Amino acid sequence: MKTLKGQPISPGYAEGTAFVYDRGPGNGVPRYQIGRNQVDSEHGRFHQAIERSAEELQSLRSKIKSELGQAEADIFAAHLSLLHDEAFRQRTRERIERDLVNVEQAVDAEVSDLARALEEVESEYIRERAKDVQDVKRRVLKHLGHGPEEELKRLPAGSVLVTRELLPSDTLGLDREHVTAIVMEHGGETGHAAILARAMGIPAVTGVAGATEVIEPGSHVHVDGQSGEVTVSPNEEAESAFVSVKARQSNEATHTVEEEYTGPCRTQDGTDIRLYANISRPEEASQPEMKSLEGVGLFRTEYLFLGQPIPPIEAQQEEVYAAIASAVAPRPAVIRTLDLGGDKKPAFLTDSFEANPNLGMRGLRFSLAERDLFETQLRAIARTALKGNVCVLFPMVLGVDDFLTAAERFRQICHELELDDVPPIGAMIETPSAVFELDRIATEADFLSVGTNDLVQYVLAADRNTEGLTGRLGVHPAVVRVLQQIAEGAAAAGREACVCGEVAGAPTFARLLVGLGFRALSMAPRRSPAVWTALFESNLAQLENTARRAVECRNENEVSDILEAAGATLT
Ligand code: PEP
Ligand code: MG
Repeated sequence: MKTLKGQPISPGYAEGTAFVYDRGPGNGVPRYQIGRNQVDSEHGRFHQAIERSAEELQSLRSKIKSELGQAEADIFAAHLSLLHDEAFRQRTRERIERDLVNVEQAVDAEVSDLARALEEVESEYIRERAKDVQDVKRRVLKHLGHGPEEELKRLPAGSVLVTRELLPSDTLGLDREHVTAIVMEHGGETGHAAILARAMGIPAVTGVAGATEVIEPGSHVHVDGQSGEVTVSPNEEAESAFVSVKARQSNEATHTVEEEYTGPCRTQDGTDIRLYANISRPEEASQPEMKSLEGVGLFRTEYLFLGQPIPPIEAQQEEVYAAIASAVAPRPAVIRTLDLGGDKKPAFLTDSFEANPNLGMRGLRFSLAERDLFETQLRAIARTALKGNVCVLFPMVLGVDDFLTAAERFRQICHELELDDVPPIGAMIETPSAVFELDRIATEADFLSVGTNDLVQYVLAADRNTEGLTGRLGVHPAVVRVLQQIAEGAAAAGREACVCGEVAGAPTFARLLVGLGFRALSMAPRRSPAVWTALFESNLAQLENTARRAVECRNENEVSDILEAAGATLT
């Protein structure tokens, strides 16, 4: 038995069989020797993977040709010509036969040699082709059943996913039914993998140093999403202790949902708090918890774009937005425009390089630079508004100027589509500059949405994707004070400010937010019963008193102590 310690990022207890997913550089390519009698079957696998890759590229090429035009479709011509290149095929077959290695290893070696040769050429155009060659390799490996995304789509039932890190794009195809828990070496509490794990109710632990080395694939693992402990090959004593704690937790969860959680959320003294849902996929708008929520407070549209070789066209986007709007109708659905960048890189942008993506082309900055992409999305949202109750929200707003540029464009599009009423337009407050510009933004925006995940990252200069940089959920006094400032600024301008960062879904922090003056919170639907109950049991005067004391704190521990003493433990 081995016990490893990490940081809990999604609560709950779970056990299962370790599935070690290693996506570091050079990994994901299985390497093994083969016997001489296996050469023919490896050649057969190679032939089949090449044929399937070619078929896939052909259909991608025709789809792009009809949607975007010939020039864009020609990008794939280079990929296809490599697949059809007889010299490439012949050299790969020879490697298999000469070195007696599996086909994945032979393809990897052949492509690496080719890419290196191309990278040394003086012409920039030819150097760029090295990327095409790598792309072809990924595709062929995928069809050999060993692409990283493919592995995640076919996890055995009862898997504890053990990984260095999990990117948002990895999570797209994740076989959720089969994942009981997630153990990561890296990744912050408000990073997108953690957000997703909490939204799905999968216990998760991060910061487990060397997990992918230490945990043997196939070993039995316990994951404690409360304490951050990961036990590998537990002995009998640990096994029975785990079983009883797990049973207790599931009783408590059932009690909360069934007995307490009904109707709108109201504190003991009658203050109404509006609870909304954060969702990333249309199907999440139909979760059972939605019935007690006031609508969708945040739809993260970037998940529609992440796994795609080309961005979804207007009609595809409209279909998704309309499905969400109708699932929650007549309640509103807030559709946030693309927040690409940071750790959210779509497949069609994999070639772009940024030394520090969280300070690069993200959110509205990206959208304003990519006008076509942005306007297509605005049109799809405006068209949805012809039929449903939607609001539009811009992410990573820096100030009144970028907000107005985007809002004006949206208004024009609504005008062109002859909409009688322009849907409400909101600004996310998640950069320090937006806080300094709050009075001006609040005058122009119809509503505000406070993204604490990014706000904490930028206020504390602490990368949200790195574990252990901030106290739990960033309960630093500076964060409490900046939130107080936002609540006051929004109230002075008469605008509703809804907090949609992860803190809103943590009962103790949700109480602080209400004490600071917020009356709207948006969170993963699964987390709403606990928040609902915590607020239902509270009294506004007490919450305001706690908030006043929290604002005076001088360090994170003082804030945590006050919040814990005021009610519950941090979730
Ligand atoms: C936030 O930053 O708090 C937020 C809600 O947006 P995202 O997590 O998608 O960046
Ligand atoms: Mg954000």
